[in-house]
Amino acid sequence: MAEIHLQNITKIFDKKARAVDDVDLTVTDQEFMVLLGPSGCGKTTLMRMIAGLEYPDSGRVRIGGRDVTDLPPRKRDIAMVFQSYAVFPHLTVFENIAFGLRMKRVAKPEVARRVEAAAELVQLSPYLARYSAQLSGGQRQRVAVARAIVMEPAVLLMDEPLSNLDALLRLNFRAELKRLVAELKTTTIYVTHDQVEAMSLGDRVAVMREGRIVQIGTPMEVYDRPATQFVGSFIGSPPMNFLRGRIGGANGHSSVHLGDQEFTVPLSIGRTDGDILIGIRAENIEAESTPVAGAIAARTEVVEPLGSHLLLTAVVGDQRLKIQARTDFPAQPDGPVWLRPRLSNDPRLPSLLLTSSATSASTQRANDPRRLNRSRPRLYPHQWSRLDSAGAIWLRRTWTSAVPPKTTASGTSPPR
Ligand code: ATP
Repeated sequence: MAEIHLQNITKIFDKKARAVDDVDLTVTDQEFMVLLGPSGCGKTTLMRMIAGLEYPDSGRVRIGGRDVTDLPPRKRDIAMVFQSYAVFPHLTVFENIAFGLRMKRVAKPEVARRVEAAAELVQLSPYLARYSAQLSGGQRQRVAVARAIVMEPAVLLMDEPLSNLDALLRLNFRAELKRLVAELKTTTIYVTHDQVEAMSLGDRVAVMREGRIVQIGTPMEVYDRPATQFVGSFIGSPPMNFLRGRIGGANGHSSVHLGDQEFTVPLSIGRTDGDILIGIRAENIEAESTPVAGAIAARTEVVEPLGSHLLLTAVVGDQRLKIQARTDFPAQPDGPVWLRPRLSNDPRLPSLLLTSSATSASTQRANDPRRLNRSRPRLYPHQWSRLDSAGAIWLRRTWTSAVPPKTTASGTSPPR
């Protein structure tokens, strides 16, 4: 069992910079958890505290039920793989992989057995006698991974291990790594700022911003149900569209207004009048080349052919949005286009998220780390609303004024 439990972890550098701010996180045994966030959000610092390379200003680190906060790295039963793979050029692949085992004075036959098994896993068996200077970047990175897994650690920590590889190698090695970690079943924490890597590898993804975890969920949860506008914008390419609008109800229907246009939402949702922020992904918008009932008129600004689809940038009133269209869609720059939300057949997958337009600014203010210790009430955007194919729309007040629930291992996903 190697569950990792972080409790109220804070790290402040130079008495002022809160690199990690009161983080709670549980990574279950054998789970692959990705820490994802923009540069400087505290991912590496958090990872280094788990490794024992950095001491937290407050909070406790537990691995496998044992409090390891005060233990040095070598007593934590962890292995790390870094971005700079730090492979020794004067040693052969075999000796590089065996390095940690030799330091631990493991018996020679056991070293040979474990090195060969690890090399087999990362497909380096034919290269064991080579010096690492004779290897490609991808092979060197595999040596670094083998050197970590040969220790048979309870926990594997990886800090941007693919970022020194070129795009194609990275793509191939990503799939290899996924297979490998699934085979090893070691609890793994993986740091990256690359959202595609995070989505592809993680059982769950913890999205960080300014030292805090803002959402934890499966890749599809954070993609489909971003807890904040920041998450929706950070995950996905293109980012989720966010449009300011208004919603109003009459005659058993509700209408969403965008500028001077509107589209109807099938069911009345009671008290719904007011400003809203609409979150919708490019692939959830249907583009039409002629006027269609229920669609709103827009103007195509840019057409980008991306092979499998077209990416359109369209303008509605004074707002821009991205739309994914079929390659045969007759789009022309500066031409007219009609848009409507494409509703999912799976009620668990919302295609349109509605929240109060006040969320953006107020949430950003509320989540500002500089304000976190103030005792006034804060606003939190936990309650996105949902429009699904059954015509159900969920719209609640999007915040509570009480002290917010903390982001825990179960995450802060929007309500179902
Ligand atoms: P990147 O993706 O660029 O590596 P990151 O999310 O891993 O970024 P960290 O390296 O954890 O971010 O840094 C978080 C914050 O803490 C940054 O503002 C950084 O400048 C600061 N920081 C990190 N290490 C130190 C240090 N030793 N002394 C002072 N400040 C530090």
